Amino acid sequence: MSDADPFTFDGGRVDPGETENIRYTVTETYLGDPVRIPVTIVNGEQAGPTLFLSAAAHGDELNGIEVVRTVGHSWDHSDLCGTLVCLPVLNVPGFIAQQRYLPIYDRDLNRSFPGATDGTSAKRIAHSIFRNFIQPCDLGLDFHTSTRGRTNMLHVRAGLANETSERLAKAFASNVIIDKQGPSGSLRFEATEAGVPTVAVEMGEAHRFQREFIDEALVGVESVLAEFGMRETATVRWPGWRAIIAGSEEKTWIRADVGGLVDVQTSYGDLVYEGETIARITNPFQTEITTVTAPFTGLLVGLLENPLVYPGNPLCHLVKVDDRTRRAIEYTKSSP
Ligand SMILES: [Zn+2]
Repeated sequence: MSDADPFTFDGGRVDPGETENIRYTVTETYLGDPVRIPVTIVNGEQAGPTLFLSAAAHGDELNGIEVVRTVGHSWDHSDLCGTLVCLPVLNVPGFIAQQRYLPIYDRDLNRSFPGATDGTSAKRIAHSIFRNFIQPCDLGLDFHTSTRGRTNMLHVRAGLANETSERLAKAFASNVIIDKQGPSGSLRFEATEAGVPTVAVEMGEAHRFQREFIDEALVGVESVLAEFGMRETATVRWPGWRAIIAGSEEKTWIRADVGGLVDVQTSYGDLVYEGETIARITNPFQTEITTVTAPFTGLLVGLLENPLVYPGNPLCHLVKVDDRTRRAIEYTKSSP
Protein backbone atom coordinates (compact mmCIF):
# COMPACT_ATOMS: atom_id res chain seq x y z
CA MET A 1 0.00 0.00 0.00
CA SER A 2 1.02 3.58 -0.52
CA ASP A 3 -0.84 6.75 -1.52
CA ALA A 4 -1.29 7.73 2.11
CA ASP A 5 -3.45 10.82 2.64
CA PRO A 6 -2.62 13.89 4.70
CA PHE A 7 -4.56 14.27 7.97
CA THR A 8 -6.34 17.63 7.99
CA PHE A 9 -8.08 19.55 10.75
CA ASP A 10 -9.28 23.12 11.13
CA GLY A 11 -6.02 25.04 11.07
CA GLY A 12 -3.55 22.47 9.86
CA ARG A 13 -2.51 19.32 8.07
CA VAL A 14 -0.07 16.53 8.72
CA ASP A 15 1.40 14.82 5.66
CA PRO A 16 2.30 11.12 5.36
CA GLY A 17 5.56 10.37 7.14
CA GLU A 18 5.15 13.41 9.43
CA THR A 19 4.46 13.69 13.16
CA GLU A 20 3.05 16.90 14.64
CA ASN A 21 2.61 17.95 18.27
CA ILE A 22 -0.22 20.46 18.43
CA ARG A 23 -1.76 22.52 21.22
CA TYR A 24 -5.29 22.93 19.95
CA THR A 25 -7.58 25.65 21.33
CA VAL A 26 -10.97 24.26 22.38
CA THR A 27 -12.28 27.16 24.52
CA GLU A 28 -11.19 30.27 26.44
CA THR A 29 -10.75 31.07 30.13
CA TYR A 30 -12.49 33.94 31.99
CA LEU A 31 -9.49 36.05 31.01
CA GLY A 32 -9.92 35.25 27.36
CA ASP A 33 -6.82 33.07 27.25
CA PRO A 34 -6.92 29.96 25.09
CA VAL A 35 -7.56 26.57 26.72
CA ARG A 36 -5.60 24.15 24.58
CA ILE A 37 -5.55 20.36 24.48
CA PRO A 38 -2.39 18.45 23.52
CA VAL A 39 -2.76 16.50 20.27
CA THR A 40 -0.15 14.38 18.52
CA ILE A 41 -0.80 13.25 14.96
CA VAL A 42 1.45 10.48 13.68
CA ASN A 43 0.82 10.02 9.96
CA GLY A 44 2.51 6.85 8.68
CA GLU A 45 4.36 6.68 5.39
CA GLN A 46 1.98 3.97 4.19
CA ALA A 47 -1.78 4.17 3.79
CA GLY A 48 -4.04 2.55 6.36
CA PRO A 49 -6.79 3.29 8.87
CA THR A 50 -6.88 6.34 11.13
CA LEU A 51 -7.14 5.41 14.82
CA PHE A 52 -7.69 7.86 17.67
CA LEU A 53 -6.53 7.16 21.22
CA SER A 54 -8.07 9.43 23.84
CA ALA A 55 -7.81 9.74 27.61
CA ALA A 56 -8.88 11.92 30.53
CA ALA A 57 -12.32 12.86 29.21
CA HIS A 58 -12.78 12.55 32.97
CA GLY A 59 -10.01 14.84 34.20
CA ASP A 60 -8.82 12.70 37.13
CA GLU A 61 -8.52 9.41 35.21
CA LEU A 62 -4.81 9.30 34.56
CA ASN A 63 -3.75 5.78 33.54
CA GLY A 64 -4.83 6.28 29.92
CA ILE A 65 -2.78 9.46 29.61
CA GLU A 66 0.39 7.42 30.02
CA VAL A 67 -0.84 4.84 27.49
CA VAL A 68 -1.57 7.49 24.85
CA ARG A 69 1.69 9.37 25.49
CA THR A 70 3.74 6.19 25.29
CA VAL A 71 2.15 5.19 21.99
CA GLY A 72 2.59 8.68 20.55
CA HIS A 73 6.12 9.41 21.71
CA SER A 74 7.99 6.26 22.77
CA TRP A 75 7.04 3.90 19.97
CA ASP A 76 8.85 3.64 16.67
CA HIS A 77 6.33 4.42 13.92
CA SER A 78 8.61 3.97 10.91
CA ASP A 79 6.48 1.02 9.70
CA LEU A 80 3.09 2.57 10.56
CA CYS A 81 0.38 2.08 7.93
CA GLY A 82 -2.25 4.71 8.58
CA THR A 83 -2.54 7.50 11.13
CA LEU A 84 -2.64 7.74 14.92
CA VAL A 85 -4.48 10.67 16.51
CA CYS A 86 -3.27 10.83 20.11
CA LEU A 87 -5.43 12.87 22.52
CA PRO A 88 -3.92 12.23 25.97
CA VAL A 89 -5.94 14.88 27.88
CA LEU A 90 -9.39 15.68 26.47
CA ASN A 91 -10.71 17.48 29.55
CA VAL A 92 -7.91 19.98 30.25
CA PRO A 93 -9.87 22.15 32.78
CA GLY A 94 -10.84 19.02 34.77
CA PHE A 95 -7.29 17.69 34.52
CA ILE A 96 -5.83 20.91 35.92
CA ALA A 97 -8.36 20.89 38.78
CA GLN A 98 -7.79 17.11 39.20
CA GLN A 99 -11.48 16.37 39.07
CA ARG A 100 -13.73 14.22 36.92
CA TYR A 101 -15.98 16.92 35.49
CA LEU A 102 -15.35 20.19 33.72
CA PRO A 103 -15.15 22.79 36.52
CA ILE A 104 -17.55 24.96 34.52
CA TYR A 105 -20.89 24.06 36.19
CA ASP A 106 -19.50 20.55 36.80
CA ARG A 107 -20.51 19.31 33.39
CA ASP A 108 -19.52 15.84 32.21
CA LEU A 109 -17.52 16.24 29.00
CA ASN A 110 -18.17 12.55 28.36
CA ARG A 111 -21.92 13.20 28.11
CA SER A 112 -21.52 16.25 25.86
CA PHE A 113 -20.47 14.66 22.56
CA PRO A 114 -20.84 15.17 19.63
CA GLY A 115 -21.26 18.73 20.90
CA ALA A 116 -22.68 21.84 19.26
CA THR A 117 -21.30 25.21 18.21
CA ASP A 118 -24.14 27.09 19.93
CA GLY A 119 -24.59 24.85 23.00
CA THR A 120 -23.23 24.90 26.56
CA SER A 121 -19.53 25.48 27.14
CA ALA A 122 -19.09 21.70 27.52
CA LYS A 123 -20.83 21.05 24.20
CA ARG A 124 -18.69 23.64 22.43
CA ILE A 125 -15.51 21.99 23.73
CA ALA A 126 -16.87 18.57 22.74
CA HIS A 127 -17.77 19.84 19.28
CA SER A 128 -14.32 21.26 18.66
CA ILE A 129 -12.69 17.96 19.62
CA PHE A 130 -15.23 15.81 17.79
CA ARG A 131 -15.24 17.63 14.48
CA ASN A 132 -11.48 18.03 14.18
CA PHE A 133 -10.03 14.89 15.71
CA ILE A 134 -12.74 12.22 16.04
CA GLN A 135 -14.84 12.42 12.87
CA PRO A 136 -11.86 12.11 10.50
CA CYS A 137 -10.95 8.76 12.13
CA ASP A 138 -11.97 5.20 11.26
CA LEU A 139 -11.66 3.72 14.78
CA GLY A 140 -11.18 4.82 18.35
CA LEU A 141 -9.96 3.71 21.77
CA ASP A 142 -11.11 5.83 24.72
CA PHE A 143 -9.32 5.18 28.03
CA HIS A 144 -11.00 5.48 31.43
CA THR A 145 -10.49 4.34 35.03
CA SER A 146 -12.76 3.65 37.97
CA THR A 147 -13.54 6.60 40.22
CA ARG A 148 -11.36 7.51 43.22
CA GLY A 149 -11.35 4.83 45.90
CA ARG A 150 -12.12 1.93 43.57
CA THR A 151 -10.10 -0.11 41.09
CA ASN A 152 -11.28 -1.83 37.91
CA MET A 153 -9.40 -4.74 36.43
CA LEU A 154 -8.58 -3.87 32.81
CA HIS A 155 -11.63 -4.55 30.66
CA VAL A 156 -13.17 -3.33 27.43
CA ARG A 157 -16.66 -1.90 27.10
CA ALA A 158 -18.15 -2.10 23.63
CA GLY A 159 -21.44 -2.51 21.83
CA LEU A 160 -20.67 -5.81 20.09
CA ALA A 161 -23.66 -5.46 17.73
CA ASN A 162 -21.35 -3.21 15.70
CA GLU A 163 -19.05 -5.56 13.76
CA THR A 164 -16.02 -3.27 13.79
CA SER A 165 -16.48 -2.47 17.49
CA GLU A 166 -16.49 -6.21 18.13
CA ARG A 167 -13.29 -6.68 16.11
CA LEU A 168 -11.69 -3.79 17.98
CA ALA A 169 -12.82 -5.05 21.40
CA LYS A 170 -11.55 -8.57 20.75
CA ALA A 171 -8.27 -7.36 19.25
CA PHE A 172 -7.53 -5.40 22.43
CA ALA A 173 -6.92 -8.82 24.03
CA SER A 174 -8.47 -8.13 27.42
CA ASN A 175 -9.84 -11.03 29.47
CA VAL A 176 -13.16 -9.29 30.02
CA ILE A 177 -15.42 -7.54 27.51
CA ILE A 178 -18.67 -5.98 28.68
CA ASP A 179 -21.09 -5.89 25.76
CA LYS A 180 -22.94 -2.65 26.33
CA GLN A 181 -23.43 0.46 24.25
CA GLY A 182 -22.11 3.60 25.87
CA PRO A 183 -24.56 6.16 27.25
CA SER A 184 -25.87 8.90 25.00
CA GLY A 185 -23.39 11.79 24.82
CA SER A 186 -20.38 9.61 25.62
CA LEU A 187 -17.48 9.73 23.19
CA ARG A 188 -17.73 5.97 22.67
CA PHE A 189 -21.42 6.01 21.77
CA GLU A 190 -21.44 9.18 19.67
CA ALA A 191 -18.28 8.35 17.73
CA THR A 192 -19.68 4.89 16.91
CA GLU A 193 -22.99 6.48 15.83
CA ALA A 194 -21.03 8.86 13.59
CA GLY A 195 -19.33 5.94 11.81
CA VAL A 196 -16.17 5.78 13.93
CA PRO A 197 -16.49 2.52 15.88
CA THR A 198 -15.03 3.18 19.31
CA VAL A 199 -14.58 1.10 22.44
CA ALA A 200 -13.77 2.18 25.98
CA VAL A 201 -10.97 0.64 27.99
CA GLU A 202 -11.46 0.72 31.77
CA MET A 203 -8.34 0.24 33.87
CA GLY A 204 -7.41 0.85 37.49
CA GLU A 205 -8.19 3.78 39.73
CA ALA A 206 -8.42 7.56 39.28
CA HIS A 207 -5.46 9.73 40.38
CA ARG A 208 -2.88 7.03 39.73
CA PHE A 209 -0.35 5.81 37.23
CA GLN A 210 -0.60 2.02 37.67
CA ARG A 211 2.21 0.45 35.72
CA GLU A 212 0.75 -3.07 35.40
CA PHE A 213 -2.42 -1.70 33.79
CA ILE A 214 -0.52 0.69 31.53
CA ASP A 215 1.70 -2.14 30.28
CA GLU A 216 -1.31 -4.41 29.73
CA ALA A 217 -3.06 -1.67 27.75
CA LEU A 218 0.02 -1.07 25.59
CA VAL A 219 -0.04 -4.75 24.62
CA GLY A 220 -3.71 -4.23 23.71
CA VAL A 221 -2.97 -1.21 21.52
CA GLU A 222 -0.23 -3.07 19.67
CA SER A 223 -2.59 -5.99 19.10
CA VAL A 224 -5.21 -3.58 17.68
CA LEU A 225 -2.60 -2.13 15.30
CA ALA A 226 -1.87 -5.69 14.13
CA GLU A 227 -5.56 -6.60 13.69
CA PHE A 228 -6.23 -3.55 11.49
CA GLY A 229 -3.06 -3.90 9.43
CA MET A 230 -1.44 -0.78 10.84
CA ARG A 231 1.81 -2.43 11.87
CA GLU A 232 3.20 -5.42 10.01
CA THR A 233 5.63 -6.45 12.72
CA ALA A 234 2.92 -6.62 15.41
CA THR A 235 0.84 -9.70 16.17
CA VAL A 236 -2.73 -10.08 17.35
CA ARG A 237 -2.75 -11.33 20.95
CA TRP A 238 -5.07 -13.82 22.62
CA PRO A 239 -5.50 -13.17 26.36
CA GLY A 240 -5.62 -16.86 27.39
CA TRP A 241 -9.27 -16.78 28.43
CA ARG A 242 -12.12 -14.44 27.74
CA ALA A 243 -15.41 -13.63 29.41
CA ILE A 244 -17.93 -11.66 27.37
CA ILE A 245 -20.48 -10.25 29.77
CA ALA A 246 -23.84 -9.24 28.32
CA GLY A 247 -24.50 -5.69 29.49
CA SER A 248 -28.13 -6.55 30.12
CA GLU A 249 -27.09 -9.28 32.56
CA GLU A 250 -24.32 -7.29 34.12
CA LYS A 251 -24.85 -7.00 37.86
CA THR A 252 -24.11 -3.65 39.38
CA TRP A 253 -21.81 -3.20 42.33
CA ILE A 254 -22.55 -5.23 45.46
CA ARG A 255 -23.21 -2.68 48.19
CA ALA A 256 -22.56 -2.60 51.92
CA ASP A 257 -25.64 -2.97 54.12
CA VAL A 258 -23.91 -1.64 57.21
CA GLY A 259 -21.45 1.19 57.86
CA GLY A 260 -17.97 0.29 59.05
CA LEU A 261 -14.38 -0.56 58.24
CA VAL A 262 -13.84 -3.01 55.43
CA ASP A 263 -11.33 -5.82 55.40
CA VAL A 264 -11.22 -7.01 51.81
CA GLN A 265 -10.41 -10.72 51.50
CA THR A 266 -10.08 -10.81 47.73
CA SER A 267 -8.40 -8.97 44.89
CA TYR A 268 -9.67 -7.59 41.59
CA GLY A 269 -9.36 -10.15 38.85
CA ASP A 270 -10.11 -12.99 41.31
CA LEU A 271 -12.56 -15.73 40.50
CA VAL A 272 -14.80 -16.08 43.56
CA TYR A 273 -17.20 -18.93 44.22
CA GLU A 274 -20.76 -18.70 45.43
CA GLY A 275 -20.72 -18.31 49.20
CA GLU A 276 -17.04 -17.33 49.36
CA THR A 277 -16.16 -14.40 51.62
CA ILE A 278 -15.37 -11.23 49.68
CA ALA A 279 -15.01 -8.83 52.59
CA ARG A 280 -15.71 -8.36 56.30
CA ILE A 281 -17.15 -5.12 57.65
CA THR A 282 -16.52 -4.38 61.33
CA ASN A 283 -17.47 -1.70 63.82
CA PRO A 284 -14.72 0.21 65.70
CA PHE A 285 -14.77 -2.30 68.60
CA GLN A 286 -14.64 -5.34 66.33
CA THR A 287 -17.64 -6.64 68.24
CA GLU A 288 -19.87 -6.79 65.20
CA ILE A 289 -18.63 -8.44 62.07
CA THR A 290 -20.65 -8.53 58.86
CA THR A 291 -19.41 -11.01 56.30
CA VAL A 292 -20.08 -10.20 52.65
CA THR A 293 -20.17 -13.34 50.51
CA ALA A 294 -20.43 -13.87 46.77
CA PRO A 295 -24.09 -14.37 45.80
CA PHE A 296 -22.94 -16.32 42.73
CA THR A 297 -19.70 -17.58 41.18
CA GLY A 298 -18.10 -14.77 39.26
CA LEU A 299 -15.17 -12.57 38.46
CA LEU A 300 -14.27 -9.54 40.58
CA VAL A 301 -13.99 -6.85 37.91
CA GLY A 302 -13.95 -3.95 40.37
CA LEU A 303 -13.14 -3.54 44.05
CA LEU A 304 -13.10 -0.72 46.57
CA GLU A 305 -9.68 0.59 47.62
CA ASN A 306 -10.85 2.97 50.34
CA PRO A 307 -11.82 0.68 53.26
CA LEU A 308 -14.59 2.87 54.70
CA VAL A 309 -18.27 2.43 53.90
CA TYR A 310 -21.65 3.84 54.72
CA PRO A 311 -24.63 1.58 54.13
CA GLY A 312 -25.22 1.64 50.39
CA ASN A 313 -21.62 2.27 49.37
CA PRO A 314 -20.25 -0.04 46.67
CA LEU A 315 -17.93 -2.87 47.72
CA CYS A 316 -17.21 -4.77 44.56
CA HIS A 317 -18.29 -5.30 40.97
CA LEU A 318 -18.85 -9.02 40.52
CA VAL A 319 -19.80 -10.41 37.11
CA LYS A 320 -21.24 -13.84 36.51
CA VAL A 321 -19.22 -16.22 34.34
CA ASP A 322 -20.48 -19.37 32.66
CA ASP A 323 -18.98 -22.80 33.40
CA ARG A 324 -16.81 -22.85 30.32
CA THR A 325 -15.26 -19.47 31.16
CA ARG A 326 -14.86 -20.52 34.80
CA ARG A 327 -12.91 -23.63 33.75
CA ALA A 328 -10.74 -21.57 31.40
CA ILE A 329 -9.94 -19.10 34.21
CA GLU A 330 -9.19 -21.95 36.63
CA TYR A 331 -6.93 -23.60 34.09
CA THR A 332 -5.02 -20.37 33.35
CA LYS A 333 -4.61 -19.51 37.03
CA SER A 334 -3.36 -23.00 37.88
CA SER A 335 -0.76 -23.01 35.08
CA PRO A 336 2.64 -21.59 35.97
ZN1 LIG B 1 -14.19 7.87 32.87
